[in-house]
Amino acid sequence: MAHEAVGSSLVVDEQNNATLHQPTNDATPKINLLGMSRAELEQFFESIGEKKFRAGQVMKWVHQYFVTDFAEMSNISGKLREKLEKVCEVKAPEVVHRNYSKDGTRKWVFRVGEGSGSLVETVLIPADDKTGARKTLCVSSQVGCALDCSFCSTGKQGFQRDLTSDEIIGQLWVANQSYMEDVAVADRTRSVTNVVMMGMGEPLLNFKPVVKAMTLMLDDFAYGMSKRRVTLSTSGIVPMIDKLAEQLDVALAISLHAPNDELRNELVPINKKYPLAQLIASAQRYIKKDGNESARKHVTIEYVMLDGVNDQLEHAHQMVNLLKELPSKINLIPFNPFPHAPYGRSSRNRIMAFQKVLSDAGFVCTIRQTRGDDIDAACGQLVGQVADRTRRAEQWKKKVAQQNEIVRSQG
Ligand code: SF4
Repeated sequence: MAHEAVGSSLVVDEQNNATLHQPTNDATPKINLLGMSRAELEQFFESIGEKKFRAGQVMKWVHQYFVTDFAEMSNISGKLREKLEKVCEVKAPEVVHRNYSKDGTRKWVFRVGEGSGSLVETVLIPADDKTGARKTLCVSSQVGCALDCSFCSTGKQGFQRDLTSDEIIGQLWVANQSYMEDVAVADRTRSVTNVVMMGMGEPLLNFKPVVKAMTLMLDDFAYGMSKRRVTLSTSGIVPMIDKLAEQLDVALAISLHAPNDELRNELVPINKKYPLAQLIASAQRYIKKDGNESARKHVTIEYVMLDGVNDQLEHAHQMVNLLKELPSKINLIPFNPFPHAPYGRSSRNRIMAFQKVLSDAGFVCTIRQTRGDDIDAACGQLVGQVADRTRRAEQWKKKVAQQNEIVRSQG
């Protein structure tokens, strides 16, 4: 059970790591309904003496019509709306910076706490393919990251904390809502077609909130996304890949970036704990876990192309060998350099030669288009800039306060 009702408050058990508060009087914070699963919302409505189906009604208002004011939820009685207003809220994380690129890429920086270290970013990348117009949202799961991959701007910022399910699903809510700001409530739709949990942080190290948020992405009363269009990307936390296989049917991506242990230990240090043989075996188990109807027909392999580091033809041949038993699609990512990055981007010719080796061996291998260069689309980069500005503003405020203090003490 996720939580149990006590009067008008909710007690949340540790096991489910729910992010609820206990509003028993005016001073206590309100319950944020945004990140609650359908099961949790049903329990909540039962706990306040209401029918379970209210959960689905409220979820549709929140996640499909982007309504946060209970007064606008017209199929709910006035009495219940008043009750909800007293104890609940629908609150997405605060947007402190947003940037919309000419090529359609959109990027947001959210503040999820105090100070310059409490920022996360989300990027939306549009693309046209044979299935039509796609809008793929890259969602963050942690503030910073502890895994310190050597090519990653987020890794350089260190780990601050895990995001809650409200903060994770809130990124999808904000992205969808950004297209509907001027649209009448009755005409609103969901614009984001695909989600990849591939922003800041390692999603499998924040397992319960990530699974809860992804469950909402799939739920027909919330975003109703196809399980093939919701992808979790991991650097390779092997035991948690097995756990994910038990709990959720979504697509899996592996941030590989190197085809042998020696190089991967250097680029993705978690490889020292879970080396390639273990990682590939867990990906195979993930695929075998379910039948043809699942989202698990293949794994996507992400491979950032670093000039002179992992982009030689011998690396491509090693990849062919490594992945020969794993149904996989390979996505080559031209490196997006950030300030003080120790690497450069591989040349176009080098990337295409690498791709040819993999394609000739029978793999579907694509090269990611570089998008949003004019808004710093490399993961963690925009947060770095906004954090710098915030830090400078904080230092300035501190300096002014110190000067005022000196003036006061002298006066
Ligand atoms: S690449 Fe991913 S796992 Fe590695 S440091 Fe960056 S955010 Fe963390």
